[in-house]
Amino acid sequence: MSYNETLFARAQKIIPGGVNSPVRAFRSVGGTPPFIARGEGPYLWDADGCKYIDYVGSWGPLIVGHAHPEVLRAVNDKARDGLSFGAPTEIEIEMAEYLCRRLPSMDMVRLVSSGTEATMSALRLARGFTGRAKIVKFEGCYHGHSDGLLVKAGSGLLTFGQPSSAGVPPSITQDTVVLPYNDLAAITAAFKEAPEAIAAVIVEPIAGNMNMVKPKTGFLEGLRALCDRYGAVLIFDEVMTGFRVHPGSAQGLYGITPDLTTLGKVIGGGMPLAAFGGKRAIMECIAPLGPVYQAGTLSGNPAAAAAGLATLALTEAPGFYDKLAAATRALAQGLQDAAKAAGVAFSATSEGGMFGLYFAAQAPGSYAEVMACDVDRFNRFFHGMLNEGIYFAPSAFEAGFVSAVHQPADINATVTAAKKVFATIR
Ligand SMILES: *Cc1c(COP(=O)(O)O)cnc(C)c1O
Repeated sequence: MSYNETLFARAQKIIPGGVNSPVRAFRSVGGTPPFIARGEGPYLWDADGCKYIDYVGSWGPLIVGHAHPEVLRAVNDKARDGLSFGAPTEIEIEMAEYLCRRLPSMDMVRLVSSGTEATMSALRLARGFTGRAKIVKFEGCYHGHSDGLLVKAGSGLLTFGQPSSAGVPPSITQDTVVLPYNDLAAITAAFKEAPEAIAAVIVEPIAGNMNMVKPKTGFLEGLRALCDRYGAVLIFDEVMTGFRVHPGSAQGLYGITPDLTTLGKVIGGGMPLAAFGGKRAIMECIAPLGPVYQAGTLSGNPAAAAAGLATLALTEAPGFYDKLAAATRALAQGLQDAAKAAGVAFSATSEGGMFGLYFAAQAPGSYAEVMACDVDRFNRFFHGMLNEGIYFAPSAFEAGFVSAVHQPADINATVTAAKKVFATIR
């Protein structure tokens, strides 16, 4: 038995599925997940000492790679002064000012500890601000695991959303409307049917939780116009895309101003930190200024804020996003060329430091198209690549991430491995 297998057996006895978040268990690809011993730059080492080029980056936060010396120094310096106070600290102001400077759509921001908390709180705030109950989300978008968001599409436009998890009563999801992504006609009809019922529309401006699906031209603009017309709050969930796809996040890339934005992942630099922010008039509805309750013992944790600020400062290096995007494009293009040469139906796309890989001839534009990709072939590709020391996300429905410290040699090594693996999965 390898040490990874020993650890997985031990973990499964005491942690459900052996993991603290389900996709880590490798259920969709099968096999034993590597237990990670350490990371440095673009690399990971597992419990058996195997080295991998990492394209998961802790699911997005590690835009400057693992154990970046400047991030570690910032955390160490802060930690020496104590880990948590449950009282205001100066670094929280620095983080808030920083975020609002880089995202001009945000006048005010509140810090929390996870993306789930950020989206859950932003939706409560939107409901409190508008006095309305219904929220709209899109099929295939993920906004954390709070009850009201674990919903799959119902049959009609404004019919009840069906819970997608056991333990969520239908009474909780009845005000969540699920509509198809990239389908402006569906949401236009929903607003027409209930012009004064929808409190908020929440969207991943680039969907990264159903593999990667880009917004069609006009989709986000259309959401902005509809929310303006009907007085609903437009929430961009940029927990994944924030500071990942563009210096100004997806809202900067597409030039659209949401009313509220949720952030996480990159802004914590690998530590638990997330945020929601936006228009002053909306944000002032939160306690203690307003009637919408929201709180957190560890919110704005100083060591986490230090990790995030150090990471974000590194992204301001000249040419940072151009270089990151070029490396990510080179990976996507290299994989696409390798698949073509091997005669495998495959496509890849990227934006900034985020990419999608699909076992389908065309990049998908909807949840239905993502679901039609060849999952079995992905699984064989995944294991072939893992065997070659390339660590992609262990599911056909996740986006991938390149960091600023992935060098051309790492990208080339990945493409070389892919040539070999594509030939075996034809
Ligand atoms: C990861 C993610 C979340 C949830 O964040 P957690 O920190 O895992 O709770 C929410 N929305 C999007 C778009 C995400 O990618």
